[in-house]
Amino acid sequence: MLATQDVCVSNDLLRERLVQRRRVIDLQELAFTREAAEFAASEAWDEDGSVSAIDWIRFNCHMTAGAAAKAVAVGEIMHQLPQSIQALTDGEIGFAHLAVMARTAEALGERFDEKLLVEKAKENSPGKFFYICHHARHAADPKHYAAEQAEQVEQRRLKLSTWMDGSLLISGQLDPVGGAAFLTALQPLARKSGAHDDRSPERRNADALVDLSTHALDTGLIPQRASQRTHLQVTTSLETLIGLAGAPAAEMEFSLPISSKTVERLACDCSVTRILLDSESVVIDVGRAKRTISGPARKALNVRDKHCVWTGCERPASWTEGHHLVHWIHGGTNEPSNLALLCYRHHWMVHEGNWQIIRGDDGRIVTIPPTVTFGPPSRGPD
Ligand SMILES: [Zn+2]
Ligand SMILES: [Zn+2]
Repeated sequence: MLATQDVCVSNDLLRERLVQRRRVIDLQELAFTREAAEFAASEAWDEDGSVSAIDWIRFNCHMTAGAAAKAVAVGEIMHQLPQSIQALTDGEIGFAHLAVMARTAEALGERFDEKLLVEKAKENSPGKFFYICHHARHAADPKHYAAEQAEQVEQRRLKLSTWMDGSLLISGQLDPVGGAAFLTALQPLARKSGAHDDRSPERRNADALVDLSTHALDTGLIPQRASQRTHLQVTTSLETLIGLAGAPAAEMEFSLPISSKTVERLACDCSVTRILLDSESVVIDVGRAKRTISGPARKALNVRDKHCVWTGCERPASWTEGHHLVHWIHGGTNEPSNLALLCYRHHWMVHEGNWQIIRGDDGRIVTIPPTVTFGPPSRGPD
């Protein structure tokens, strides 16, 4: 009993100490920004050969450029924020509130109403207060707010470059509205697909982006000059398609040569334009750019499976591909018993990820993870 009380007392102390410590840090931050602005107004940074005060602070105070710039900016506008500084000194708001307040004061100029916003800051977390300040900025000057957002659209960029191993490197910037559209489309696809899904959030985002692109190709959402749809164009030989040793890799536009496993998946049920070559590189078949499983067969499959058949995955039928349990290359048919809906990721896991998927006697789908091997066994069977 005594022990429990001791724990409670020490937890109370810990809470109290954390709050007090943060208050001290916030007051120090306040003093730091004031002096940073003073320093920026002086020539002291120039004497040391720095290109700017922010650069000097960044290097000598071990800060990021963004944090140094924020300190100077807040310090420079401090004289306009007497009520906010009082609230911070009294421990009613944090330095995070003050930084948002400073940015708002700078944006609003004469329309800035400190009294109103200090009350909001006291009642809300810094994150919520950030949103409130944006509403205040819009209310005070809708035209300026719209102009700022239009400028953010002009700042959109997406840099695409190909790494030595053929991977695509992506970096870019989207305005808040464009970013929201992107996130709204991406996030449902980036959710975990069942309890076994141990992919990192970054990996799930990347997979979701590939899913989006694949789906856009599959459903003909990409605008075309002619009436033709955009398709992945794969050129391969029969030897590659059936995975014979010694066969070359397949070729695909915008990609380095791709493995026979990938061609197998693309050809399983995808709107690829297949160009089959014989051993003399003579074109023997230009596949129709159409799903392998189409029309009534696909409709029946959608009705039966409803979504990806992988345990715990509920990606809807429109976001799946029809998988042949025995591939048509190896004589598998389009009979319902040989087909199953799989989402893009699980389809990849079966073809390239070495998982096995089988249908049990009772019709239930069973998935088997790839086995770990350490080379051939050292001795044969007895
Ligand atoms: Zn397949
Ligand atoms: Zn799935």
